[in-house]
Amino acid sequence: RQPIIAIDGPAGAGKSTVTRKIAQALGLLYLDTGAMYRAVTWLVLQSGIAIDDEPAIAEIVSQCQIELIPDGEQPRTVINGEDVTEAIRSLEVTANVSAIASQWAVRQALVKQQQAFGRQGGIVAEGRDIGTTVFPDAELKIFLTASVQERAKRRLLELHTKGKIEVTQEQLEQDIAQRDQLDSNRAISPLRKASDAVEIQTDNLTIDDVIQRVVGLYSR
Ligand code: C5P
Repeated sequence: RQPIIAIDGPAGAGKSTVTRKIAQALGLLYLDTGAMYRAVTWLVLQSGIAIDDEPAIAEIVSQCQIELIPDGEQPRTVINGEDVTEAIRSLEVTANVSAIASQWAVRQALVKQQQAFGRQGGIVAEGRDIGTTVFPDAELKIFLTASVQERAKRRLLELHTKGKIEVTQEQLEQDIAQRDQLDSNRAISPLRKASDAVEIQTDNLTIDDVIQRVVGLYSR
């Protein structure tokens, strides 16, 4: 069987960068499950369906086609033929994704697609429920954390780099704390650390420190 590494943790803990670089370093496929929930959210918002209209959303999800296309550092996310790589990072999608991701039909459909992706080869997958639900048999499970302040700081830096500075540190802290709460308290598949996951608190670590630790744990 091909190796699977599961990387879970709250929003802004550095999962994306770390997961992408580990995939590169180890020659594994990169699976961004958050991008899938975001793509479905984008589609729902686009189609004008209310975000609590579960039957209509279940219908949309059962019919949509999501592709994650490798493309250098940042893979492209395509839904129903449309490239939404940038669009799914908007504040509007981010504000609505937890509500969509807490719907049973949405999770059932996407988890199935994620498991199919895992049959294509060795992968590093990032998300909230990879080690608990999607790949409970993963060889290595990592739970990345960081304080709310640190996560907001990193996000702000990222937005500055992209020239988007329409939010403040305080707003970002609020957003992150709220998303943590929504992701942790939901009934279906809450964010929680698998009992056999290794927790890495990243406040005082660089990206390279984290990668080194994970690669070290993997090669043991
Ligand atoms: O990782 P990212 O911030 O892109 O994820 C966006 C949202 O998608 C999360 O806040 C969470 O609500 C949802 N999600 C999830 N399960 C996953 C990955 C993401 O519920 N495996």
